[in-house]
Amino acid sequence: MAVPVALTVFSTSCNKPAEPTARTAKLRVLTSFLPIQSHAAAIAGDLAEVSQLLTADTGPHDYQLRPTDVKRLADADMFIVNGAGLESWLGELMAKTGGSGQGNDGSKAQAVVDLSAGLQLTGNPAPFAAKRAAEEGKNPHTWLDPVLAKQQVATILAALQKADPPNAAAYTANAAAYTTQLDALDAEYRSTLTPLTNKNLVTFHDAFPYLAARYGLTYIGCISEFPEKDPPPQKLAALVDAIRTAKVGVLFAETGYAPALLQEIARQTGARVSMLDTMEVGTGNPTAYLERMRLNLTALESSFTPAP
Ligand SMILES: [Zn+2]
Repeated sequence: MAVPVALTVFSTSCNKPAEPTARTAKLRVLTSFLPIQSHAAAIAGDLAEVSQLLTADTGPHDYQLRPTDVKRLADADMFIVNGAGLESWLGELMAKTGGSGQGNDGSKAQAVVDLSAGLQLTGNPAPFAAKRAAEEGKNPHTWLDPVLAKQQVATILAALQKADPPNAAAYTANAAAYTTQLDALDAEYRSTLTPLTNKNLVTFHDAFPYLAARYGLTYIGCISEFPEKDPPPQKLAALVDAIRTAKVGVLFAETGYAPALLQEIARQTGARVSMLDTMEVGTGNPTAYLERMRLNLTALESSFTPAP
């Protein structure tokens, strides 16, 4: 019969791997919040459309699902998240796009890219570990360690290359340039913080254990395990004792949250108040992560430098 022969000839002529075909439109990438948006935008350049799900004034701990976000996810080719339980609303959002990542029209499935894959996750250091570690497993604030951020970048690169093979080489070049900047950031943290002593870290919520572990800071504890909740009185008293015992000179409030409770603890303990940025609120761009991490380094350096 003519048809099978024709098919055989066709398949024989196609034995070598197919050339990647050019996309008719740019890859559409949705990211969850500022650090992820910053990394993805830096790697994508103008080759893909990268947009951030969370608005500038909403952090991932207190995000509420909006109907317009369901449509944004359905329209995206992939959704890049921090993972490690940070986007606790992810399951509900995915379910509303039509089940296991399938678009409402059944025509395409959104790929969720989880940047916690392959990362060495830890719980919070004792004695202020308890709640999140017990209830949710591990601390999700991986992005605040530039070395872990490099691994996140590698995961984003692999996802973009897989989804958009014709631009794979350009993504590689962009990611290499961005990784060089992350290496420089890491080197600045090391050279700035290593000579300093008494690097006691007390923050508003439990966002900095990875940064503390990376750069030899002593993580004394946090005021509130979740930004929107007040801590139990016993826990607060234990923290005040720990601050006094360690002679902590500076407490770190954070961008986006009212530091009234922290200021009260500072008053009780004689510590002063500085600011660190968790990057949980705000809008990302290719330089936002690097800029905000450098502002954090400046705050840490001036706080840990003894008064003359
Ligand atoms: Zn947080």
